[in-house]
Amino acid sequence: MTATAEITVTDVVARYVPVIGLETHVELGTLSKMFCGCPTEFGAEPNTQTCPVCLGLPGALPVVNVKSIESTIRIGLALNCTIASWCRFARKNYFYPDMPKDFQISQYDEPLCTDGYLDVMVDGEPFRVEIERVHLEEDTGKSLHVGGATGRIHGADHSLVDYNRAGIPLVEIVTKPIAGTGVRAPAVARAYVTELRELLRGLNVSDVRMEQGSMRCDVNTSLAPKGAAAWGTRTETKNVNSLRSVERAVRSEMIRQSQVLDDGGRIVQETRHFHEDSSSTTSGRSKEEATDYRYFPEPDLVPVAPDPAWVEQLRAALPDAPSVLRSRRQAELGLSDDEMSWLANTGALQLFAETVAAGASAADARKWWLGDLTRRANAEDIELAELAITPAQVASLVGLVADGRINDRLARQVLDGVLAGEGDPEQVVAARGLAVLSDTAALDAAVDAAIADNPDIVAKIQSGKVAAVGVLLGSVMKATRGQADAASVRAMIAQRLGVEL
Ligand SMILES: [Zn+2]
Repeated sequence: MTATAEITVTDVVARYVPVIGLETHVELGTLSKMFCGCPTEFGAEPNTQTCPVCLGLPGALPVVNVKSIESTIRIGLALNCTIASWCRFARKNYFYPDMPKDFQISQYDEPLCTDGYLDVMVDGEPFRVEIERVHLEEDTGKSLHVGGATGRIHGADHSLVDYNRAGIPLVEIVTKPIAGTGVRAPAVARAYVTELRELLRGLNVSDVRMEQGSMRCDVNTSLAPKGAAAWGTRTETKNVNSLRSVERAVRSEMIRQSQVLDDGGRIVQETRHFHEDSSSTTSGRSKEEATDYRYFPEPDLVPVAPDPAWVEQLRAALPDAPSVLRSRRQAELGLSDDEMSWLANTGALQLFAETVAAGASAADARKWWLGDLTRRANAEDIELAELAITPAQVASLVGLVADGRINDRLARQVLDGVLAGEGDPEQVVAARGLAVLSDTAALDAAVDAAIADNPDIVAKIQSGKVAAVGVLLGSVMKATRGQADAASVRAMIAQRLGVEL
């Protein structure tokens, strides 16, 4: 078998046609749970946000949270879906310790929203992702496996279960199979999830925090040999929890499956786990078919029949689509199309806008986020948002440069300090002694010394070769350990030598 590192997605699509699909689960930001009054706040002590209904105790009856229906309809409308005039919840039967009732209330063949689409931009070109359905269900609890090295059940001493999450309203957004992407399959997957997250954020229905699991993706990937009549067997990579991982999960599955197929093997329909550290997937369990869940209409709940007038009210009150907001913001921030799509696709647009809102000019925000900070994020192989610096700190850094208290070179050292957790830019400047030299006597002495030490350079400058001033500037910077302001030093040299620089 060929080593993974040697195969690229380009190699894969030379022989195979990828089809992907995304199932995204979003926890709604309702104050109470889906079928009971329990609070939904994240991070509470385990099992403190439960009641007989969400614990599935005998005789407890669910009541639908109308806000969750409203939020799901708004999501469906924003995704250009048809809203069902009548639909039912269904019981999905399966037995996991984190499901106290041993069934999940979900929707099966009567979802609330169907047949929509979301347009995304990939490499500057529009791509339409079709939506199959948007339905509402309840979240499960969470198992914690203790004592093993990986946090998975394998190798653990014992397991604990937390039912705080059980019963939180969960919307599942399922795409139709996405074909026609070719080499762009990983980028399309990422662009779709990025755009969906923006849309949900704009609707204010969820905090969409992938790192906390309030938005999580299952990524389906299949490959078929070029020219084949049918699509290949798909695998489902579960609970991918960052934008970057969505892209990597598709890429790694495409490469893995191509190797299996190249070797004459067969793809097994199964769920797979994505590993952040190695960007690879490993086998989970063989995938259940819908029939394994023995769905039937939920007998404890009445059907949902949203009044068409109410649906139209919700439609009329939808906020502008993310693409409309982006065009407006692009104009406000003075960004080029490329910069805009790059910022949007890296999820950094919000950081950029917040930096401007915190007082930096768009030009300065662009300079730091797209320059030094992007380089540092790339060097560490992380997202811009994962850098240990806030938009307010970037704005503060910009302010220090604008006030002449530090120069760009010192600002880079201040960045080092902020990213190393040494505090805000002001604190780093003070702690590291990085302020621009304001002691004029010391600066005068350094300029005088540079002129005295370099008579040949001075002669060159005076004969018109002004570029030679760089040597004198360098000498002053060295003497002041980079803490002089270059523009002032240049002016001082010009004045002493009686030349225009
Ligand atoms: Zn409850």
